[in-house]
Amino acid sequence: MKIETIDTGYFYADGGAMFGAIPKTAWSRRYPSNETNGCVLSMRSLLIITDTGKIILVDNGAGDKHLKQLSYYNFFDLADLGEELRKRGIEPEEVTDVILTHLHFDHCGYSTQINKETGKLTPSFPNATHWVSRKQWENFLHPNALEKDSYFLENMQAVADRSLLQLIDTDTHLCPDVELRIFDGHTPGQIVPYIYSPDYTYVFAGDVIPLVASVSPEWISAYDTFPVTSYNEKIRLLDEACHKGQALIYCHDAYTKCSTVKKVNNFYTKEKILL
Ligand SMILES: [Zn+2]
Repeated sequence: MKIETIDTGYFYADGGAMFGAIPKTAWSRRYPSNETNGCVLSMRSLLIITDTGKIILVDNGAGDKHLKQLSYYNFFDLADLGEELRKRGIEPEEVTDVILTHLHFDHCGYSTQINKETGKLTPSFPNATHWVSRKQWENFLHPNALEKDSYFLENMQAVADRSLLQLIDTDTHLCPDVELRIFDGHTPGQIVPYIYSPDYTYVFAGDVIPLVASVSPEWISAYDTFPVTSYNEKIRLLDEACHKGQALIYCHDAYTKCSTVKKVNNFYTKEKILL
């Protein structure tokens, strides 16, 4: 098994929004920001190649279809994920599975792109099964008022039209080495993939724990639609990660990709930096 993170680009998010009720005097000690409180966030994707030949991607960044609409986020250093795969000897057509933690634009925007010849939206990974939770899909189709600006139908419609969508209702194994577990809080039905590799169990924590600074359960982003649920879900994820020595991958942390975590006197902190 091979696993590798691929950063698809970066954007600025307001530090106040990222850390919710936590005052800047506290969060600024854990995460840098610029003079207007902008924090640089990565849009991290994960490439998994299993021993049985599956080529799996977890999340795929914002793509380039809505950059003008989203100019507030000041995206920079955007990479074309298809090109990134080709550099690694993989054609986009060879990707067997795309796991989408959730369907906010910064996680699934590259799922479709505009075909240069036909001008139509087409799936970027035309042979891949796209894994999404049914709860998240329903929320995407009928979003609540707070999330509707984070969703773009164009990111997923062509995937659904080609019957490439695989909706899951409960925790599910994609294959023996990759389990998809469902966590609520940030958004309904977020998928957290657990990758069982010989060295570590890697947990792609998605927006359940987007930054190493967010490992404290009460450090919840203002974007989370159900913060009390987020708090409980984070503890559920962290307790197992501490107990079993699992490695968390932080999808938005521009400075730390992955670490194990430990619990000392009821506080969770990073332990060993990995990847
Ligand atoms: Zn999100």
